[in-house]
Amino acid sequence: MSDNKTITVTSPLLPSLEEFTGYLKDIWESKWITNNGQFHKQLEKELAEYLKVPYVSLFTNGTLPLLTALQALRITGEVITTPYSFVATTHCIWWSGCKPVFVDIDPNTGNLDPDKIEAAITPKTTAIMPVHVYGKPCDTKRIQEIADKYGLKVIYDAAHAFGVEVNGESILNAGDMSTLSFHATKVYNTLEGGALVMHDEVTKKRIDYLKNFGFAGETEVIAPGINSKVDEVRAAYGILNLRQVDASIEARHQVAIKYREALRGIDGITFMEDMPGVKHNYSYFPIFIDAEKYGMTRDELYFKMKEQNVLGRRYFYPLISTFSTYRGLDSAKPENLPNAHKMADSVICLPMHHEISEEDMERILNTIHKK
Ligand SMILES: *Cc1c(COP(=O)(O)O)cnc(C)c1O
Repeated sequence: MSDNKTITVTSPLLPSLEEFTGYLKDIWESKWITNNGQFHKQLEKELAEYLKVPYVSLFTNGTLPLLTALQALRITGEVITTPYSFVATTHCIWWSGCKPVFVDIDPNTGNLDPDKIEAAITPKTTAIMPVHVYGKPCDTKRIQEIADKYGLKVIYDAAHAFGVEVNGESILNAGDMSTLSFHATKVYNTLEGGALVMHDEVTKKRIDYLKNFGFAGETEVIAPGINSKVDEVRAAYGILNLRQVDASIEARHQVAIKYREALRGIDGITFMEDMPGVKHNYSYFPIFIDAEKYGMTRDELYFKMKEQNVLGRRYFYPLISTFSTYRGLDSAKPENLPNAHKMADSVICLPMHHEISEEDMERILNTIHKK
């Protein structure tokens, strides 16, 4: 082990303690600490404006909005999804009593390959749940065309896609609903937290019931809802963090530029470029190792970095389709998912956050340059 300080893969965006304390005083004085308080209402409004979407409903994490979206849209039977994601995506399909059907990814973007979706549709298919992996937008137009042709709903797991826009329009407006995660490791956090984005007021109201046990008023319960209500402390924290998220994304952008400059031309290492017309959020910086050309396997590099206290992440490895719950599914067979396996076996996400110093950058790049 070297004596170097640990360079973490991510670092949470934190609001100023002084400002946060001021908000805490307000909450203490009002004694309204949860259940749609003033900060909760304010954050939903500010997020909708910031994200350029009509309606936002806050949740306590990024997993329950997936589950609630499936419930609200009455999804049954089979749901087409990607194995190249965080386990929560598939777990929610399982929790909703549906069968996940894995479809392979596009090797260039890491996202569900629209060309492979139709072959996976059966009479039981009711929905598609794609993920904007690393915040790179899915081919939402193609996916919608397929969904419309077969009468399917589309729920986007947009946990990585906070603030991402295509030609000036929020990616979160695609499909029937999109979900966000505000976990500490994400571009924007409310400690733990998340949200569901929807297109109309009626749906917003229904979602608000569903995240509060299904209560529509004092005595009426319209469905078996879950509890995913956000308290005032987290909402206040979220309001403060929203004010600095642009600066944080710009700092990440600069890190991405430096990574690309330094890594271009290294044999056996590839990375993703910005997409034309897309406003990116630089949530992750994945690199892909071709062991033969690079002269070292992905895992060898990963552990070598770790030895030097530079923490990367093999994100997403292993694939969801390889976990015990899912590997028995027909669609989970590796021969059905060659691109996903290849990406999962070659990826390392480099440290990416708003506080990477020049010195950190040099140390990170040294671990990659010197074999
Ligand atoms: C983080 C994440 C989630 C889950 O969000 P939590 O807030 O941790 O519950 C879901 N899907 C993807 C793709 C994620 O990265």
